[in-house]
Amino acid sequence: MTTRLDNRKVDELRKIKIELGVSKNAEGSCYLEWGKNIVIATVNGPKPVFPRHLADPQKAVVDYKYRMACFSVSERKSPVPGKRDKEISLVSGNALESAIMVEQFPNTLIDVNVLILSADAGTRVAALTAASLAAADAGLPMRGMISAVAAGRANEQLVLDLTKDEEDTADAVDMACAFLMPQKEIVLLQMDGFVKKEDCSKILENALIGAEKIYDIQKKALLEKYPLEGEIQL
Ligand code: UDP
Repeated sequence: MTTRLDNRKVDELRKIKIELGVSKNAEGSCYLEWGKNIVIATVNGPKPVFPRHLADPQKAVVDYKYRMACFSVSERKSPVPGKRDKEISLVSGNALESAIMVEQFPNTLIDVNVLILSADAGTRVAALTAASLAAADAGLPMRGMISAVAAGRANEQLVLDLTKDEEDTADAVDMACAFLMPQKEIVLLQMDGFVKKEDCSKILENALIGAEKIYDIQKKALLEKYPLEGEIQL
């Protein structure tokens, strides 16, 4: 087995650091460092919807905005949201919505903003992981957490949590996965690259193993800010 470009084991995540409640103007917020990715997520709502015709009488509308700061990548990123930002926002909003009990808040809006301050691949999964924590920090009733991670292939081996250098290798496959935890339901699945069917299943299995580790890290961060008394099991 060849070693990875940053010397991690094939199933090893980059280092993750989480802090909740970092923005005084948001109802819920999360700062997350994941390797060289830096993300801040805020959640506000439920609140009134304007214009009113955008409201849904059955549930809250989750308005998820994924944006990259101009300085987050080596070549200046335009502050105008492009096709990629809009696509990521749409699929991530749908994924996060599956975790929030939106049916309890008809005709309202839940505003989710995620800003990437530094990017090194895997930003959409880092963003969703942080947004889910920000939603919990905002006190929204939730079915579970969204634990998201990328898995794939680089330098002829199947690996978890690819860096940009790994994503840029010739045979790279990058599968972004998000799971509703602890139910282990897949709520987002996107892939770049070409892969055999057997490898596809193996990559998905690796992603679930990664998501379980991320779920543990999320629970730890929540328990640090909101300690539980007694024997409650998360
Ligand atoms: N990237 C970039 N400029 C862009 C978009 C992306 O340099 O306009 C880099 C950034 O490091 C990002 C990586 O390419 O993390 C991989 O982008 P991708 O679209 O695969 O999304 P991600 O893996 O970040 O979810």
